[in-house]
Amino acid sequence: MSSDSDIQTTSRGFFCSLCNANLPNMPSVDQHVKGRKHQTLSTVRATRKTQEEHSVFVSGIKPEISQSDVTEYFQQFGAVTDVIMDKDKGVYAIVQFSETESIQSALSCVEHKMKGLKVRVKPREKKEFKLIPKKKNDPQNLQQVLNRLTPELCQQASVDAQMKYIVERFQLGENEKKARSLLVQLLQEVFVEFFPDSQILPFGSSVNTFGIHSCDLDLFLDLENTKVFQAQAKSSTEQAVEGVPDDGRSEDSILSDIDLSTASPAELLDLVATILIRCVPSVHKVHAVSTARLPVVKFHHRELNLQGDITLNNRLGVRNTRFLQLCSGVEERLRPLVYTIRYWAKQKQLAGNPSGAGPLLNNYALTLLIIFYLQNCDPPVLPTVDQLKDMACEEEECEIEGWNCTFPSQPIAVQPSKNTQDLSSLLSDFFSFYAKFDFASSVISLREGHALPIVNFLSQAKEDETMQEENPTKAHPHRPKLGPLNLLDPFELSHNVAGNLNERALRSFQKECQEAEKYCRSLQYQHKSTKGKPWGLLRLFTPHVDVQHNKPEQLTIDIPFKATSLPEVLRDEPHVAGDAFRLPWFQKVCSSVEVVLKTVLKCHVDAPKEGLCREDAAVDAEDMETTSASISASLNDSTESVESQNEATPSSAAVVGAKRPLSSGSDSSVSPHGKKPRLAKRRRPQIPPWTCVQKHVVWAGRRKVRRELVKDADCKPEGSCVELESQVTAYIAEKEPELREPLEFKVQLLMVGGTESTRALLKLEPSSDKAGVFQDFFHFLEGFLPKMVETVLQKEGRQA
Ligand code: ATP
Ligand code: MG
Repeated sequence: MSSDSDIQTTSRGFFCSLCNANLPNMPSVDQHVKGRKHQTLSTVRATRKTQEEHSVFVSGIKPEISQSDVTEYFQQFGAVTDVIMDKDKGVYAIVQFSETESIQSALSCVEHKMKGLKVRVKPREKKEFKLIPKKKNDPQNLQQVLNRLTPELCQQASVDAQMKYIVERFQLGENEKKARSLLVQLLQEVFVEFFPDSQILPFGSSVNTFGIHSCDLDLFLDLENTKVFQAQAKSSTEQAVEGVPDDGRSEDSILSDIDLSTASPAELLDLVATILIRCVPSVHKVHAVSTARLPVVKFHHRELNLQGDITLNNRLGVRNTRFLQLCSGVEERLRPLVYTIRYWAKQKQLAGNPSGAGPLLNNYALTLLIIFYLQNCDPPVLPTVDQLKDMACEEEECEIEGWNCTFPSQPIAVQPSKNTQDLSSLLSDFFSFYAKFDFASSVISLREGHALPIVNFLSQAKEDETMQEENPTKAHPHRPKLGPLNLLDPFELSHNVAGNLNERALRSFQKECQEAEKYCRSLQYQHKSTKGKPWGLLRLFTPHVDVQHNKPEQLTIDIPFKATSLPEVLRDEPHVAGDAFRLPWFQKVCSSVEVVLKTVLKCHVDAPKEGLCREDAAVDAEDMETTSASISASLNDSTESVESQNEATPSSAAVVGAKRPLSSGSDSSVSPHGKKPRLAKRRRPQIPPWTCVQKHVVWAGRRKVRRELVKDADCKPEGSCVELESQVTAYIAEKEPELREPLEFKVQLLMVGGTESTRALLKLEPSSDKAGVFQDFFHFLEGFLPKMVETVLQKEGRQA
């Protein structure tokens, strides 16, 4: 069924055109061809082909002709096995015969008439079988959904009314809520049979007041009482042996096979999955994911067309759902804001990871960002979590896993806000707030209602490390995993809710906020169009289109500013919060890029300033210092040069300041004359271009060489070790022939972006590429260089 023609050779290995899959080598091709996807698609293709070869296309069918009329009529040419009529209009049909000869006899008949009406019969068109992947977030799909919303949104009287309409349109209906609660009830009845006294509790969007029609059903199976029950049953069985009867409930229970107090999460998940498959009707696609942060059993309910997730240890999830419910009860403007911003984020492909895990924001994190913004409005729209704690009474005190989760149970306990802004202005201020937000140096805390300086967390992490070294047996506090966006859970304070987000996703989020902020200032946002044109929210919801594919390739590489990659000497300085550490960071990045090109990739780098063009320097602290000092010199020299790229924001100009030494202190928002520098004449830190020469194909086959050099290569991922990567290059340079013509290229480094999006930008440009390898080298550098630079920065930090 599978044909060899499905597999094509490419420059990177193989490609299966049937399944749209790239395959790196022959063993993976063999495995893929035997795999389920390829086998299923091959079978479907074969069936389609047989159908095509056995059927004719009939057009001109009138409404009075039914499917059975068609079957009956075509029986005269041979046995008919199937008739497919087009669903909507019934104007054509495909008639399938059991024998191919019947096609000829049907086609040779000059005129076809059914119920006295003429129809045409043609051979079936042969179409190439193609897999069309279903893409939920395809911009076309998103646009279609938006098109359906357009007339109603256009008709609304104001943006506020549009926002309320979005809630109406997307919120879970009463029937849906009822269906979900019946399923929960059914699951409760089933699980309690197996786990006496267990409880199944819904949380997440089904119950947090922000649910939409297709949202999943998050459930927590609480086995705490079952554990107690089991422990008691155990001791009473022991006593029963001594003459005390037990209550008999545990006899047939699954509990006789498993000890809940010692069972591993994977064992429990398997058990839950088995119960679902065997005992809950309509449930299918059940599978356990034990590797997730919170292990989960996923299932699908066929009749309700509902995705469900059951977690076993999620008391905090249930509590934070109660918190969201409380916020929405306290502040009625929250729901329209959340629904509108969630929809905007979906259209712009900023939130909603396709398979649960992924690099985008999830809806929980997005909702917390909205609440944080509302805590920061003037006057605040919502109180901080600490303030809520103080409003609770004694009975409402709550602690889960050592975290304080106290807040009032009823909205009435919370004083209404003095903020009177309407929805439309709250929405546009949300975009402004995050368009300017300095993510790189902040940790967002809903508990305190303001951003905490990231440097505090960095020094805490260092203290922990020291403590760990001094006393390895002592339990140490957990710290949030710091990343591009640091958003602390309101209760589990050691958890960064947006820890999954990558640089690119954060940059898109901020860029879309900036775009939205700009749009919200326009008349089209604020005023209803009298000519029926899209206005208000409609333009905000235009789906994001990835123009990257259509653009000619931009040969630039971004290295985003990360406080975490600052050398420790800088992190320890209490005054480094804010703008002041960005310039030293850029200097370090420049010297690290030079180290990567020269030492790790054995490029000949010719830098115009003295001291920059040394070749193959050894990577040691002293070497790096010399390099960074010389770059620092060239940086200071270059501040006089004027750059006028559109990308820079006013604040990026502010960081640099006019004619000031680059190493100046933190108050850099004002020029020496007390004025903000003009946009048109901004200076940015940059270094004069380097000329580089590469003689070997050092980018090809690195993984294989790495594996040969280190047995357990998995523990050293690509770019994580300077010495190893340098050895890989040396190995390739020694074993592989030189390029017939060396590749020459130019590298220019500049610092761009405002405080909130500072990054080093590397512009690469080939000056001589007779071997035609520059594109490949560039693609390799795109992934390799940022990782490697970070490793060099960290190494330098440790050595300083
Ligand atoms: P939707 O299902 O519509 O995307 P949701 O609010 O249910 O939205 P989920 O991602 O399904 O969001 O998360 C469900 C619940 O799981 C959240 O309400 C929260 O309690 C918890 N949760 C989700 N993501 C995180 C996270 N990153 N950190 C901590 N808890 C989380
Ligand atoms: Mg959910």
